Amino acid sequence: MSIRGGHGETPSTHVNAPLVAIVGRPNVGKSTLFNRLVGGRPALVHDTPHLTRDRRYGEADYFGAPLRLVDTGGLDPEAATEVIGAGIHRQAMVAIDEANALVLVVDGRAGISPIDRDLAKQLRATGKPVFLAINKIDHPTNDHLVHDFHELGLTAIYPVSASHGRGIDAMLEAVTGAVGSVRPPEAEDAAEPDPLFDELPDEPEAEDPAAANEPPAKLRVTFVGRPNAGKSSLTNRLLGEERSLVHHEAGTTTDPVDAEFSIGGRDYILVDTAGIRRKARIEADIERIAVSMAIGQIERADVVVLVIDADLGPAEQDARIAGKIEEAGRALVIALNKSDLVTGDEKKQKLRDLSEDTFHFLTWAPTTMISAQRGDGVDRLLDLVEKAAEQHRRRIPTAQLNRFFKEVIEEMPPPLHKGKAVRINYITQAVTKPPTFILWASSPEGLAPSYKRFISNRLREAYGFRGTPIRIFVKAKKDRHDLER
Ligand code: GDP
Ligand code: GDP
Repeated sequence: MSIRGGHGETPSTHVNAPLVAIVGRPNVGKSTLFNRLVGGRPALVHDTPHLTRDRRYGEADYFGAPLRLVDTGGLDPEAATEVIGAGIHRQAMVAIDEANALVLVVDGRAGISPIDRDLAKQLRATGKPVFLAINKIDHPTNDHLVHDFHELGLTAIYPVSASHGRGIDAMLEAVTGAVGSVRPPEAEDAAEPDPLFDELPDEPEAEDPAAANEPPAKLRVTFVGRPNAGKSSLTNRLLGEERSLVHHEAGTTTDPVDAEFSIGGRDYILVDTAGIRRKARIEADIERIAVSMAIGQIERADVVVLVIDADLGPAEQDARIAGKIEEAGRALVIALNKSDLVTGDEKKQKLRDLSEDTFHFLTWAPTTMISAQRGDGVDRLLDLVEKAAEQHRRRIPTAQLNRFFKEVIEEMPPPLHKGKAVRINYITQAVTKPPTFILWASSPEGLAPSYKRFISNRLREAYGFRGTPIRIFVKAKKDRHDLER
């Protein structure tokens, strides 16, 4: 069973968000649960023509972690022999196939039915995480009903009340944890982003945990820098041919050309911005256009290599480009090119000082000397690129983070805010690329920027994250899915 096409068909703003299928026999409360999880957002009806009944797709989020949901409609294995039932059954199976995690809904008041048993068995057989939602447990007095269902052989058991909202948070916490969902808070319930830690990304990249099983995405490495820094030379060195030099000839295209190649089994895409040279009439324009083009390309990269003419040394423009790279949340490696021209200890020391000075706000970005012309240091550069990309997409498991975090808070609790203690409940990593953390606190506004800086420094001490920016946001801890009464 492997029907993967469904992802593309799903009309969703979070197309990469993990998909959770809600499965169960009729009348157990699947649509009620679905409706509660999507929270009034309209369900997106799947209108694939050959299906006899529509699967309903929707989106939910658990404190900013997006999930896509699919309500499988009635799923009755016995009905598989009937004409209409077969359709329902078949399309439910499609949903199960597509999903990253499965929620089996049963009716807690009705007790186990043979269909529940069959379904539990089928779902377990998929090897996907299965959560048992024992529904219609509206009051704690009904909690004992749960015990009967252990027999289904599922360990992740959640007494819930889809109609009242009881127990939903606990289940979602487990589901999002299992599928590794993912993302910074929606603007509406986010605490004010601290300018120190940049803005929330406009379109945060949702990470598909299933991606772990898919071929690794192409690593997009972009070379930027001022004109004459040596980007084309470096590209040529890596390509081993004179390909990018073509663009220097009069009359050839002035657009950047993406050159793709592989080294050590990894694919690289070099965006060569050399062609801009003839776009500009005067020298000042060249500089300006080069920088604005670089910025455009940065957004599309995983890792940006900022190439600098080491003979001239880094300048204001380089700092500006580097700042944009950090802002865009891309990984960064700084390449000081033309090392062959930097001779003598004095010159080297001057370059070092100037680099430190120019990039003082980027202590996390590795800097390396290369000579594109001679090939010196180019292997090391690629190595740094690969490592930066790894850190950029790195995810620290929540449990591990919180062990670390407990120690940090014990060592230095957040300062009082208006005479009151600010309680930080826990920390999660919401997204990768770049690693983005959320501190869940009792009063987010009370957490001083200096304290976030402290946490940020500690995170780097503990985990490195060399080559990638990291982000920290603070959110108010609240339980939206609690009983609304
Ligand atoms: P589906 O066929 O599995 O999609 O089930 P529905 O969502 O249509 O629900 C079937 C019936 O169970 C409806 O009458 C719902 O109102 C009721 N129901 C759903 N969830 C709950 C719940 O948590 N508690 C109670 N008491 N009734 C519920
Ligand atoms: P781009 O504008 O950034 O693409 O820069 P180019 O690759 O066209 O290089 C600009 C100039 O610097 C050319 O004359 C290159 O030959 C020279 N250059 C590039 N890399 C090196 C290097 O490692 N050492 C020296 N000495 N010159 C270099």
